[in-house]
Amino acid sequence: MTKAHERNTEMENLISLAKRRGFIYPGSDVYGGLSGTWDYGPLGVALKRNIMQLWWKMFVDDREDMYGVDAAILMNQKVWQASGHVDTFVDPLCEDTVNHRRYRTDHILKDAGVDVEGFTMQQMDEAIKEKGIKSPDGNQLSKSRTFNMMFETTIGPISSDVDAMDITALRRAVDRSKNGSAVEIEAWTEIAEKRINQGLQERQTAKVYLRPETAQGIFTNYKNVVDSFYPDLPFGLAQQGKAFRNEIAPRDFIFRSREFEQMEIEYFVNPENWEESFAALLKDIHAYLEALGLPADKIHELEVASEDRAHYSKRTIDIEYDFPIGKEELLGLAYRTDFDLKNIHDNSGKSMEYTIKGTNTKFIPHVIEPSFGVERAIMAVLSAAYTEDEVNGEKRVVMKFPEHLAPIKYAVSPLLKNKPELVEKARDVYQILKKKHGAVMWDDNGNIGKRYRRQDEIGTPYCVVIDFETIEGDGTVTIRDRDTTEQKRISISDLS
Ligand code: ATP
Repeated sequence: MTKAHERNTEMENLISLAKRRGFIYPGSDVYGGLSGTWDYGPLGVALKRNIMQLWWKMFVDDREDMYGVDAAILMNQKVWQASGHVDTFVDPLCEDTVNHRRYRTDHILKDAGVDVEGFTMQQMDEAIKEKGIKSPDGNQLSKSRTFNMMFETTIGPISSDVDAMDITALRRAVDRSKNGSAVEIEAWTEIAEKRINQGLQERQTAKVYLRPETAQGIFTNYKNVVDSFYPDLPFGLAQQGKAFRNEIAPRDFIFRSREFEQMEIEYFVNPENWEESFAALLKDIHAYLEALGLPADKIHELEVASEDRAHYSKRTIDIEYDFPIGKEELLGLAYRTDFDLKNIHDNSGKSMEYTIKGTNTKFIPHVIEPSFGVERAIMAVLSAAYTEDEVNGEKRVVMKFPEHLAPIKYAVSPLLKNKPELVEKARDVYQILKKKHGAVMWDDNGNIGKRYRRQDEIGTPYCVVIDFETIEGDGTVTIRDRDTTEQKRISISDLS
């Protein structure tokens, strides 16, 4: 079996387990789906929340220097003009010249084994030509053009009913009218054109974008938080939430989606000592990845070369992970200088300067940005947890989630579901555990062996079984460990 094939099988197994067991479903599945969107089922939402809450705990709640915000997804379009997204948040797009399927040019090259780091769009087109690279369907590819990835919509009611169709209809109605003199037609056309222009103008003013990153919602609240709390530098603002990108070719399960979730921090520093904070944040990132249960040897730091960094960034490290689809970006850490706050300072007319307490020293703080993608964290956690082993000569699939991430902590079963005395006692134990841990599942379907397999597949660390010994006096239950499959008897009081 080739390496690539193994990887694909691993991916197939993960996707099918995720769907079958209620972690992640394709979006709008009943209506044939919607490309690049995914829905979380009961276990997926629990896993996702655990991953996000752990982040919030480690980066916000456990620290003195972090403040949380939760900004609106819809923001004034000026935000995205000033940040540069309207002009430059683009990917290179090329087209199969026969069937007109569209592709990201850099992905076509990457799939053909060409390193495109630092390439301009023109250089990419040249590389395609030189190497004779064809579309996945074997056809010639077109020249590339840029494609802006922001989703647009409009806010509030606008007279969008007026468009080019309307003017034609209006003109035709005037033409057909028996009484329509040339003067009347002229007058009607003028009215129609006015309405169209008004409509276009309104549409432009009402234009909003679904945010392609959460970071701008942090920058736009920087001044608010400083005014409310006046924290000492360095300090950070953290946000979790949805981001939307109209990816040209969403692929690889949830890895590249059109709607996804981010966890971002803007850490404001005095430019004199950004390096210290950068190093400290990098360490904190590794601590979080360790808490996610990701093996250290699958995590790689990619020091992004100066010619490949954004022009304002003085240092960027991409943290890559060995996903089943290969080594790919999991998150990024970038020193962005004062680029973002300075843009707001210059474009909004509001000062973004920070005054060091008790001094007259004023400056626009510099910023370090750790930017995590929740879906990529979930995919890493799922793939790290996925294990196939053998128990008593039988193959089993087990999700070895760290206990604090497991969607269900305990499954409780009566040994036999047709013995009321066992069921009653098991219900008591279930209630005790449920009160304490919340994420506890009642499971009395099939025989015990089947229940264990099912719980292994969803990563439940412990199965608790109530049997005749429990009710015949000693008050102990069987507790079975997911990873070792070892079973022990312990008393109910020790359980809780
Ligand atoms: P890529 O190069 O893979 O498109 P990027 O460099 O554009 O990613 P950033 O803009 O740095 O990504 O976004 C920060 C993080 O958000 C990424 O590290 C990733 O975890 C996540 N992310 C970005 N785009 C997507 C997407 N389409 N689907 C899921 N997660 C994403």
